[in-house]
Amino acid sequence: MPRQRITILGATGSIGQSTLDVIARHSDRYEIFALTAHQRVDALAALCRQHHPRYAVVSSSDHALKLQALLSADRLATEVLCGEEALVAVASDAGVDTVMAAIVGAAGLLPTLAAVNAGKRVLLANKEALVMSGALFMQAVNNSGATLLPIDSEHNAIFQCLPGNFRCGSTTVNVERILLTASGGPFRNWTHEAMQAATPEQAVKHPKWSMGRKISVDSASLMNKGLELIEACWLFGMTPERVQVVVHPESIIHSLVQYVDGSTMAQLGNPDMRTPIALGLAWPERIPAGVPPLDLFTTGGLHFEAPDEVRFPCLRLAREAMQAGGCVPAMLNAANEVAVAAFLDGKLRFTDIPVLIERTLTELPMMAALELSTILAADRSAREQAIRLLPALGRGC
Ligand code: NDP
Ligand code: MG
Repeated sequence: MPRQRITILGATGSIGQSTLDVIARHSDRYEIFALTAHQRVDALAALCRQHHPRYAVVSSSDHALKLQALLSADRLATEVLCGEEALVAVASDAGVDTVMAAIVGAAGLLPTLAAVNAGKRVLLANKEALVMSGALFMQAVNNSGATLLPIDSEHNAIFQCLPGNFRCGSTTVNVERILLTASGGPFRNWTHEAMQAATPEQAVKHPKWSMGRKISVDSASLMNKGLELIEACWLFGMTPERVQVVVHPESIIHSLVQYVDGSTMAQLGNPDMRTPIALGLAWPERIPAGVPPLDLFTTGGLHFEAPDEVRFPCLRLAREAMQAGGCVPAMLNAANEVAVAAFLDGKLRFTDIPVLIERTLTELPMMAALELSTILAADRSAREQAIRLLPALGRGC
């Protein structure tokens, strides 16, 4: 059987590294076509030495020159490219079978859509791309015949609990609702006052998962669960009312599907992203992922509680954005990206993240999300508005 040729968008990140770990265990099945990063040139050069991709992509020409010099010194044949057009090219090239979409944030939208439009097998980690462009994205999946496989652990779990012939983008049959589990993040038991003084280091210290900084802050604010609620609606044809968020601090059950006959199916496993990544790579087969098997005796009790939307308003904001429709989810995502960056930069208090998002959304007109250009314009205007509002909320440093 020919090896699957893979592009990893965001190869230097947490998901990128886990993907390369799984691939390295199965060199008979997979080969790397392209690896991409934003600016961490040394990390990307190290990956090129190890995996010998045909192409390596970085964001700017300066970084490309630096990467080229490093690779030439090692006499590597990898061709260095730069910029968004190059990301789109390596995501849609005829020589690629599978694209791991693992860039963080809105920067991943165009290359991920390019992979979808080219009919690739698309492993979707970059939830922001789907949140921004929901209807358009799913329409592109249906038009191109792309195979969309969710990598987010919850959506991967739901996918595994659905019948074997279910395809993302089609409608589920006999499903009553989806139960989306959440760890609750590092501030699950913190008061509002304590969270006001939370530092970036405290926010990125997730109790169960090791992830990039942006998604770690999203997990702490529960915006990650809000984005995932929107993601679940698009992937599984649900309304927000049919997706219930359940806080489950042990992170052993990754999500559940309730059927009309009273059955509830769950997927369990140790919290390690290599499980959903391996499923995405090999589906409909299964391959070893390097993840130790779950030992229920050491796991102990499993607990469940309702999320507190007063202390964590981001979940409510995301649900309302999905209910409002149009470009509102794209605007929510853009304002959140500005807020998280400002928080990580020490310029915004943790508890002001939802305040900034809500003000941004109330002060902007709603737009229907019919075209990509409208979505990109909504993203831009929400970013500009959030940046304008920052000084009024910011710490003034
Ligand atoms: P990381 O921050 O660890 O990695 C992000 C990757 O994207 C890096 O390779 C980075 O390059 C690249 N990147 C960042 N900005 C840009 C840009 N402007 N243009 C091009 N490339 C860029 O993130 P994660 O791996 O944690 O997350 C990636 C995506 O997967 C996110 O959407 C997240 O929500 C999702 N996800 C992650 C999970 C996890 O466990 N980590 C779980 C579920 C979903 P560089 O290194 O050069 O900065
Ligand atoms: Mg998740």
